[in-house]
Amino acid sequence: MQKRYVPFAVFLLVLAVALFAHFCGRTLAAPVWAYGEGEKTVYLTFDDGPSTVVTGRILDTLREKDVKATFFLVGERIEGREETLRRIASEGHTLGVHSMSHRYDRIYASVGALLEDAAACAEAIRTVTGVTPRVYRFPGGGKHAPMAERLRAQGYEIVGWNAVCGDEEIPHASAETLLKTSLETAEGKDEVILLLHDSAPHKATAEALPAIIDAFRARGYRFLAF
Ligand SMILES: [Zn+2]
Repeated sequence: MQKRYVPFAVFLLVLAVALFAHFCGRTLAAPVWAYGEGEKTVYLTFDDGPSTVVTGRILDTLREKDVKATFFLVGERIEGREETLRRIASEGHTLGVHSMSHRYDRIYASVGALLEDAAACAEAIRTVTGVTPRVYRFPGGGKHAPMAERLRAQGYEIVGWNAVCGDEEIPHASAETLLKTSLETAEGKDEVILLLHDSAPHKATAEALPAIIDAFRARGYRFLAF
């Protein structure tokens, strides 16, 4: 190398080392991209509870696996299950309004009927837990634009779903089928809102939950509640 190039070569070497240290340091210290776009997230959402046995088993699994979830509750099912409802709240899960009666003919009779039903459910949750719910899910799903608008004006976030475990859609589905359906319907989605049910008939859902959580974790998903 000619003498006059030496300072330039030293400069390049120092620059290369500095850049390497900078980017490696960042990599080791904080994987910034992990919090950006493209991160894989699952929201586990349980509808139609509380129930005593199934909700209880689901809460055991969530605690064991250190996962927070969202429960969309039916107000009329709270009486006699206050302890279960308080446990959902005290273990850090989100309490959402699903309906007071879950009877479509009553709820969807008018905008006023729906708002009344939602308010009664929210009040039942608040009375037992002290928590004011701020998320809402329409019974049976759907957009219901005028009703959704009014609920949003009251401060609710409306939550739908984009994947199902199949516990309502497939009669008598086994835990294995529920796992398979969860993964199939979530396929290709970075943000998964998975619909499950914790009402009394859904023992298979409670049974499938540990494997569902493990399978999403193995695919690089993290879990969030609303
Ligand atoms: Zn429902």
